[in-house]
Amino acid sequence: MTHITEPHVHTYLRCNIWHLRGRDTDVVIDSGLGLVSLVGSFPELFAGRRVLAVATHYHFDHVGGFHEFDDRAIHEAEAHLITDETVMAGRLHTRGASPGQLAQLAEAGYDLPVEAELLTAAPFAGFDPDAYTVTPCAANRLLHDGDVVEMGDRSLEVLHLPGHSPGSIGLWDAERRVLFSGDAVYDGPLLDFDADSDVAAYCETMRRLRDLPARRVHGGHEASFDGARLRELCDAYLHRRSPGS
Ligand SMILES: [Zn+2]
Repeated sequence: MTHITEPHVHTYLRCNIWHLRGRDTDVVIDSGLGLVSLVGSFPELFAGRRVLAVATHYHFDHVGGFHEFDDRAIHEAEAHLITDETVMAGRLHTRGASPGQLAQLAEAGYDLPVEAELLTAAPFAGFDPDAYTVTPCAANRLLHDGDVVEMGDRSLEVLHLPGHSPGSIGLWDAERRVLFSGDAVYDGPLLDFDADSDVAAYCETMRRLRDLPARRVHGGHEASFDGARLRELCDAYLHRRSPGS
């Protein structure tokens, strides 16, 4: 497995990209902001290989390189979002963010600079952060809970984990007891206040994840963790959002 991140990006926007080598098909889970070409940056990983790009959800910090792959999968609930250029127009700065939005993020745990860039370096000379957008492109495989992504010598079960977004998914390797959890759970501030977030659904997702016999969890952001930490994170969320349940 190869872990890729975009280094000069504020942690709020720095997504984990996971590349898994399979006998028949490789899988890349999420693809970052797409500031530079993912495929072009790692020819040793991608050249001549059959690759399925899986988006754990449609947010722009996870799908920037999605368009670079011939085979693209996303949960059916977000298929229409990933093709919408207004939805895909992400922002690499906090200019225009309201004090309320920044306060909400700060309360969650992301203290973002005001009226500032969220990059600490330009990816190439002449890069214009204001012109940044993700190339919208349709998925050619729609995922549902219980589907299996077959790699030949490894299978990943699709878990529909709504809450952060309607079509958030995780990929569960039952044989190795490894979960790729996207933004459903990671060891950092979890965000559930977007217009299409759903706290009740998120609580159900956390109850489901708490019972998963995971040994290792690779999230959409931040460092990986073990099963005990997964249960702590699920319990902490439930304690916060569903006290007394
Ligand atoms: Zn997200």
